[in-house]
Amino acid sequence: MKERVASTLVLGAGVVGLSTALYLQRAGRPVTVIDPLPPGGGASFGNAGLISADTSIPIALPGMLRKVPGWLTDRLGPLSVDPLYFPKALPWLLRWIEASRMPRVLKISDAMRALHRTTFDCWKELLGQARFYDLIRPNGQVHVWESEAETPGAALERSLRERQGIRAEPLTADDLRQMFPGISRRIGRGMLIPGNGFTVNPHRLVGALGELLVNAGGEIVAERAMKIIRTEGGGYTVMTNIGWRSASEVVVSTGAWSRQLLDPLGVRLPLETERGYHATLPAPGIELKLPISNKTRSFGVTPMEHGLRIAGTVEIAGLHAPPDERRAKVLLEHVRGMFPDVDVRDHRFWMGFRPSTPDSLPILGQAPGWPGLYLVFGHGHFGMTGGPPSARAVARLITGDTPGLDLAPYAPTRFARAPKGRAVDATRDLARAAR
Ligand SMILES: Cc1cc2nc3c(=O)[nH]c(=O)nc-3n(C[C@H](O)[C@H](O)[C@H](O)COP(=O)(O)OP(=O)(O)OC[C@H]3O[C@@H](n4cnc5c(N)ncnc54)[C@H](O)[C@@H]3O)c2cc1C
Repeated sequence: MKERVASTLVLGAGVVGLSTALYLQRAGRPVTVIDPLPPGGGASFGNAGLISADTSIPIALPGMLRKVPGWLTDRLGPLSVDPLYFPKALPWLLRWIEASRMPRVLKISDAMRALHRTTFDCWKELLGQARFYDLIRPNGQVHVWESEAETPGAALERSLRERQGIRAEPLTADDLRQMFPGISRRIGRGMLIPGNGFTVNPHRLVGALGELLVNAGGEIVAERAMKIIRTEGGGYTVMTNIGWRSASEVVVSTGAWSRQLLDPLGVRLPLETERGYHATLPAPGIELKLPISNKTRSFGVTPMEHGLRIAGTVEIAGLHAPPDERRAKVLLEHVRGMFPDVDVRDHRFWMGFRPSTPDSLPILGQAPGWPGLYLVFGHGHFGMTGGPPSARAVARLITGDTPGLDLAPYAPTRFARAPKGRAVDATRDLARAAR
């Protein structure tokens, strides 16, 4: 009997959806990707482009609870929560604070390590050698601090790196001045992480995934998925804004918008958007060979083929509030503080929606109770890094192959238990105060 080849619908044409579609296609599945935007039109468009194989530091770290009042009052700080949106974000924030406790931090760091360490291999598999070296520079990243003394946060990060066996080379202020002529005397010390890297153009990188998919016979259709409907007898139908499409499996990789499709099915998962901003300088007048993350002020500077990109900041304000361009302007002040001679003329601002879970780990696997409905989203700050390895593991799961990664830490079921304890009480009090 001839085997019926299953077809798969992938919702979302960001780095995650397109990587998953490409892996599925290469495993012999006919794939259709649905997205109203062209490839890489979401968060994947304007990120900082860091590909961080050797990064395993969760976003939530001990000491977060103390910072909550500052999040609500300093609208231009590195992390801000819109007071009007705070009650809505509260359940997610509670889980975030819970994930910042030490035993959890270690487990999360282990899972980040397991996912991120294969990123360059996956990118090479997806792109091939020539495109990989055209778009990606696996040459390292530099972190800098404005103080010479080690901060408590930096000490914890160092111990997590040591636990994971990640190489990091300390840099003095003089080393930094040699590596980055023109860097301010304000910068006291730094560190090179040689196992990390970056892309010179995230948009072109994600576009390349789309091109490879289409050239090999895949389809990308400009439609918006409105509802996922279980088909009698197996499989799914996706109702789009202009059509009706059926498939044996559906992959939800719609980034920060994934809850809009899953909530109506009763698949409740804690996904929030951490909105982030960038300013791109087309003619900065300075040349960097490597990206720099300023850990004191929480922003990054990446040399890209179309200019210098300054990116960062976290704003919890949901999917609908308009961008607050003052947050992007702060990035310009920051880069001037680090490189006093930088030319910021003709800068372009952008805001994007990081799809974030409270524990910095993506959600990977089958939706509980929905056979054939797969979830691959929630990569938060690390989608350019964790996207391709997640895609490879889930594509293998779908095609009945061994994922090559223990998927338990990323299981959608890990959020079944509600958070409890001191963080809950303290944050509820703050919620009342914010109303
Ligand atoms: C300022 C900033 C800096 C960042 N820096 C880095 C970095 O240096 N390194 C790193 O690894 N990560 C970084 N990130 C995070 C990274 O950009 C994201 O994790 C990643 O792009 C998420 O990819 P995605 O495919 O899940 O989502 P997206 O790229 O957002 O793609 C989701 C797609 O789904 C589509 N969609 C939504 N709803 C529907 C629907 N109903 N039907 C069909 N399609 C739909 C959207 O149109 C979109 O194209 C940064 C993010 C920001 C905002």
